[in-house]
Amino acid sequence: MQISEIRVDGYEKVVRCKDPASGLHALIAVHDTTLGPSLGGMRMLPYKHEEEALFDVLRLARGMTYKSAVADTGLGGGKSVLIGDPKHKSETLFEAMGSFIDSLGGKYITAEDMNIGIGDLLLVRQSTKWVTGLSRELGGSGNPSPYTARGAFHGMRAVMEEAFGSPSFKGRRVLIQGVGAVGGRLAELLKEAGAHVVICDINEARVQELCAKHGYEGVADSKHLEVHCDVYAPCARGATINDTSIPHLRCKAIAGVANNQLLDPRHGDVLREKGILYAPDYVINAGGILNVSFELLPDGYDEAKAVEKIDHIYDNLRQVFAIAREQKVATHVAADRLAEQRIAAGRKTPVKA
Ligand code: NAD
Repeated sequence: MQISEIRVDGYEKVVRCKDPASGLHALIAVHDTTLGPSLGGMRMLPYKHEEEALFDVLRLARGMTYKSAVADTGLGGGKSVLIGDPKHKSETLFEAMGSFIDSLGGKYITAEDMNIGIGDLLLVRQSTKWVTGLSRELGGSGNPSPYTARGAFHGMRAVMEEAFGSPSFKGRRVLIQGVGAVGGRLAELLKEAGAHVVICDINEARVQELCAKHGYEGVADSKHLEVHCDVYAPCARGATINDTSIPHLRCKAIAGVANNQLLDPRHGDVLREKGILYAPDYVINAGGILNVSFELLPDGYDEAKAVEKIDHIYDNLRQVFAIAREQKVATHVAADRLAEQRIAAGRKTPVKA
């Protein structure tokens, strides 16, 4: 196994592993560990070349630093990528990946991401203990989705307060695009809180089933942008806030869990100009990573403590909105500034390794 370092400005450590015996070609990027060891998922994709994989891992690792800093997980940001076709997974490949992760001595902690499942992580764990996100039976924190939904619900309370002057959902129309693991649970929480929930999904059968079961209003996914609503919650896929969609938006706020909702950061500025309040995705969808972070407690995972912290996503968003108001910037800029403030404060009082 050959492990070599790639020097990248602004990153603490970036390493490459090439292991002819297992066929492993992977990269790990540790962006910043000021606030704690770096944690971020592992993904496997058939990148065309290493540069493409490097671009992805650097961008994602940096994003994890910001997400964890605002969520106050006590962790830094990192990420790993395996270069290869997910159809060609093997036990030796993931064991080698475990040894690669282990070589960083806990500076990088892994979890699930694109094309990586629990089964793969179990193989990784044979050669390193720096693995999170396993099932409860194995000492992990289990499926993060209900926790992401809970965090988003509390984040939305801050959105309601900022946009409408009250955290109440009573009588408010909330449109959810994507009623999967997170969006489906979020819809239930909102209905329980008195919101009028409108849902859409490419899976129309699921929309019909949920409408019949919970009394939501269903709309065709192709027509969802025409829906007048108080809050639009993208919970399906990224890049849905773009030049094409923005002119059609009929909402006063956007608050959903999908990653990378803005196609480009400038779209956050366009929303601000249009008077649409945007809850930055990485702030409102941090319930899952917060839950995982509680696996690293000395006595192991503690759900009660995790949930208490997840509910603070409300306070994190309040802070983001306050910065945006005071500094007259868009909310996605305010979120980055809050993250940078926290990292700068951490540099003055470094965490013990
Ligand atoms: P999921 O796969 O369970 O649900 C996604 C839902 O969106 C599905 O019902 C799917 O049919 C629907 N969908 C997919 N493409 C669509 C499209 N083009 N138009 C309309 N509907 C579409 O995923 P999830 O775990 O609920 O995650 C949803 C989003 O939130 C993803 O972007 C994910 O990256 C992000 N996220 C999830 C978590 C988590 O804890 N699961 C944490 C942070 C961020």
